[in-house]
Amino acid sequence: MEELRPTITERRRQTRNKMYRYIYDAEVPVSKQQISTSMGYSLPTVHQNIAELLDAGLIRPGEVQKSTGGRPAVGYTIDETVRFAVGISVSATQLRFLATDVRQNELAYKLVPLSSSEGEKIGEQIAKELESFFEEHELDQKKVLGVGITFPGVIDQEKDVIVLSPTLRIKDISLSAVRRPIRFPVFIENDSTSGGAAEWLGLTLKEREEDFVYLFLENGIGGAVFIDGHPYLGSEGRSGEFGHMCIVPGGRKCNCGKLGCLEAYCSAFHFTSDIGLTPEEFFEGLAEGKESHLALWEENLNYLSIAINNLRMAFDCNVILGGFVSAFLEPYLPALRQKCAARNPFENRADYIKLGKYPTKAGMRGVAWHFMEEFINGI
Ligand SMILES: [Zn+2]
Repeated sequence: MEELRPTITERRRQTRNKMYRYIYDAEVPVSKQQISTSMGYSLPTVHQNIAELLDAGLIRPGEVQKSTGGRPAVGYTIDETVRFAVGISVSATQLRFLATDVRQNELAYKLVPLSSSEGEKIGEQIAKELESFFEEHELDQKKVLGVGITFPGVIDQEKDVIVLSPTLRIKDISLSAVRRPIRFPVFIENDSTSGGAAEWLGLTLKEREEDFVYLFLENGIGGAVFIDGHPYLGSEGRSGEFGHMCIVPGGRKCNCGKLGCLEAYCSAFHFTSDIGLTPEEFFEGLAEGKESHLALWEENLNYLSIAINNLRMAFDCNVILGGFVSAFLEPYLPALRQKCAARNPFENRADYIKLGKYPTKAGMRGVAWHFMEEFINGI
């Protein structure tokens, strides 16, 4: 009989896990009666599991608001403060830190200049900055589930290396070297894959039924393909490297060394540091109708529409735009949609183009979620 026990325990654990997820998804407090009716468990089963979740500090009592008025019933909601994770974004010039709780609420954020792009040095700087991050924001280190780090580059998890990052101008960097100085569990992922994951989490349960392509627009350009809520990584982990799709044969030289890549045409560098402006300054000038800005932007939208229409042709699904450029895109979305529709023989609208919810923090949110998902799965 000994070996049967784990099976029984596992079944009971799964019931508890389902109940926790139900309470999590409900977002507002739910009563035992509601749980019992909706999930089809007996009241004693609900009672027992609620007691276990309460004892573990994973849920807390809350009031169920009744639509008919009257005395509110006792309900339960998850305790989102029980754990947190940190997402860190490594870019060519900066390290950014974001702590999020179990509900993905933002607890703390900081940005520091990146001092070196060598693997070991990045790890050392992260380890040092983490200590002050926790201290400055009074975050309880005992609650840290882990530290997720995103890189703008191709990552091979099996070989444990960053294969290539044209943005950081590095290749064959060992992930262990980055991980070593950090005293928490570390997970490293491509920035656009993490960004796509954050956008997926930001969708409603209904919206999550649809697949989407994520196009990340910053100085570097990347992306991800999300099928059934999971990134499609490809056989070499290079799926979604949209920045290096050729859109102009024999065209401008790209950071990767090849000619005519999307990134060589639509990198934010062209309308920011290349002309000595911040993104805010450029878009302010554009809104005022400055001619040089208008010409540059028109060119950018034209090339962008080639890429977006190609993605629509290849995947036939929504295209969600992210990255800091997307934070400025709303006024230009009708023009961009028109350009894309004009290239498409099958449809005369391009409503499939959506703006992401987290233009500047998606990568950090998504990579932190890796630990949260693990945590929730383990309940
Ligand atoms: Zn390229």
